Amino acid sequence: MMLDVGTILVATIAGCAVLGCLMLVDWWQSRDTYELAWWGTAYLFGALSLLALIGRRTIAPDLLYSTSAALMLFGYGCLWIGVRRFFRRRQPIGRVLTLCILWLALAQLPVVQESASARTAIVSGLVAALSFAIAYDFWRNRSERLASRVPAMIICSVHGLFFAARVPFAEALSLPTDLGSAPVLYGILALEGLVFVIASGFTFVALTKERAEVAQRRAATIDSLTGVYNRRAFLDRAERLVRRAETDTRPLAVLLFDIDRFKQINDRFGHPVGDRLLIEFTTLATQLLRPTDLFGRIGGEEFAAILPGAPRTAAVAAADRVRAAFASVIVTEGEADVRATVSVGVTVVDGEEVGLDRLIAIDDRALYRAKRNGRNVVEVEPGTADAGA
Ligand code: GH3
Ligand code: MG
Ligand code: MG
Repeated sequence: MMLDVGTILVATIAGCAVLGCLMLVDWWQSRDTYELAWWGTAYLFGALSLLALIGRRTIAPDLLYSTSAALMLFGYGCLWIGVRRFFRRRQPIGRVLTLCILWLALAQLPVVQESASARTAIVSGLVAALSFAIAYDFWRNRSERLASRVPAMIICSVHGLFFAARVPFAEALSLPTDLGSAPVLYGILALEGLVFVIASGFTFVALTKERAEVAQRRAATIDSLTGVYNRRAFLDRAERLVRRAETDTRPLAVLLFDIDRFKQINDRFGHPVGDRLLIEFTTLATQLLRPTDLFGRIGGEEFAAILPGAPRTAAVAAADRVRAAFASVIVTEGEADVRATVSVGVTVVDGEEVGLDRLIAIDDRALYRAKRNGRNVVEVEPGTADAGA
């Protein structure tokens, strides 16, 4: 197989330039994904560095080699800074600049100037270190679930290994001024470089898209104030649970919560106090319900829960636990201790086909009765017993 190093390098330059521009355009459009600006800059510096590497055939070989390497190191540094930025960690701009300056200083030493293999060994070692640093950041930020994180980590590790392997064989793997006489092994290294540019560019962009998708999905299903399911997400999931319960032998309970005289609380103490009470209520309810229960905010101060498998007594007990616990919550606002209560409607089905809409309508009657009976109480609607009424 013929591996023409010159052609591979030109393809890599084109790849870097296109990727860099696309990433910068992507960043320009949103202006908040700064990692794309760093990565775009990184690939453009990669392209510049390879241009200098090719150009050294004609003019000032040594000067262009050290410049090319400095540009390349800065490019890898920008990739690293971008990854740090992506994971919202401190950006190692100072370290990257120090590394580039250190290289430029080393390149002035006569022993380095005279030895192509020494230069290759130093630059390869530094690129390997930067690649491993990037891979390490992908590894340690594993708490966020992103599909492209592991591929990105593998791509950077493999790239680091290729450069690390170059260090002991620097003598054989130094790029000659005349690219036509580059060893075959160098062709393989150049090809790996091209593959790295394409694969890393692809996965890095994928990472930003994956994060945006997760955020969009979350915004569409989670209530921003309380962090629980919003109305639509709750009803979607409730529908599925109710349908499953119809073919099940186990009962299913629906609980509707409505905070009492909430408008008065807002009017007296202000909206932020109301908001804090809503958050307190949510925290409490999610703690007191089972992890398998479904809970969501279905209106301003209205919440609902589905308790699969809960018979009437257990459902009423759960509802009353939440009611009693909320009655003892105190939110302080200046000198004032603000308290609130909640009314709860409960209804239970046991294998009948009722449907969610009807269940909620039935449960609403229980809630209405709780309000009429003085609030801060749990009322049960027989549900299916008078479902046809
Ligand atoms: P009742 O005991 O009959 O339920 O009386 P209520 O005042 O709780 O009921 P009403 O439906 O009249 O008022 C609900 C209030 O909830 C009105 C609205 O301003 C308030 N509200 C809705 N969403 C929010 C919110 O996100 N934050 C705050 N602080 N208040 C909200
Ligand atoms: Mg209400
Ligand atoms: Mg209310």
